[in-house]
Amino acid sequence: MAQILDGKRVRDEILEELKPRIAQLTRKPGLAVVLVGNDPASEVYVGSKTKTCAELGMVSEKLTPPATISTEELLQIVADLNAKPEIDGILVQMPLPRHIDTQRVLDAIAPEKDVDGFHPTNVGNLSIGRPGPKPCTPSGVMELLKRHQISVAGKHAVVVGRSDIVGKPMAMLLLHAHATVTICHSRTADLAAECRRADILVGAIGRPAMLTRQHMKPGAVLIDVGINRLDNRDEVVKIFGETSEKTSAFDKRGSVLVGDMHPYDAAELSSSWTPVPGGVGPLTIAMLMVNTVEAAERRQA
Ligand code: NDP
Repeated sequence: MAQILDGKRVRDEILEELKPRIAQLTRKPGLAVVLVGNDPASEVYVGSKTKTCAELGMVSEKLTPPATISTEELLQIVADLNAKPEIDGILVQMPLPRHIDTQRVLDAIAPEKDVDGFHPTNVGNLSIGRPGPKPCTPSGVMELLKRHQISVAGKHAVVVGRSDIVGKPMAMLLLHAHATVTICHSRTADLAAECRRADILVGAIGRPAMLTRQHMKPGAVLIDVGINRLDNRDEVVKIFGETSEKTSAFDKRGSVLVGDMHPYDAAELSSSWTPVPGGVGPLTIAMLMVNTVEAAERRQA
């Protein structure tokens, strides 16, 4: 019987461990979240980030400039936050409106306050194994593996997806943990064959249930980073069948969340796997809190 990797339990453990560290600081850690415009999904993400801060007794500041803000004006907001002593972490919620120069905005965040780990300085630190904030979702995956006693050293890890926020840093963290790493993407010649070589397979694609039994080596550890919302019943039925739990959930709610891996195949073939929701997802915010507390610790040292 495959083990389900429980992201909620690990998230709770990580948050619990932060409490004494926060209590030791001379000042409460402060996180500023900049939410441009009113994209409903982003509002939900930002809401859970500020709520988690409050639960931990951390300070959060939410800035909500309108979608019409210019790049220059947004850069000024970032500069002000960089200069604010009580702010330890700055997060600019992605995606930004098209007219904004996202790269310039991310580059403007002071590296020591870059709790997403997206600044080129921190990407470099990660690459050469120096301390610094690491992108939250991939570092959450590493915690999930570690806290389920899944060893990585010597394993063959295959990461499907090469984005700057998930795929590439994921591959780098697995490499630092001594896995032999293969990175796959949309131009990979024989994706199924590459994936079937994986002892640890990570899906970070953004395509509902794309990785199926033909991509899974029996006994592999399957980590599903994908979060895809399906709001078309035919699509749900095509993947899960008419009489499945997901289809009944869809009929109740009008949409369902699906990962990049087929969960029934994962449950049948893997040694351990992450459900969606409830697997990798909960860890992203936990690791954001870790990065903010660590930024505060470094700034107060
Ligand atoms: P991106 O769209 O930036 O990257 C997707 C990657 O998948 C690309 O590298 C792309 O390849 C690759 N890809 C796309 N189609 C295929 C294909 N048919 N075969 C092989 N590779 C393919 O997505 P993100 O990395 O930002 O996110 C990936 C998923 O993770 C999404 O579902 C997202 O919602 C989820 N996510 C979840 C988080 C969490 O908290 N759990 C946090 C962040 C993201 P190429 O480079 O060649 O185009």
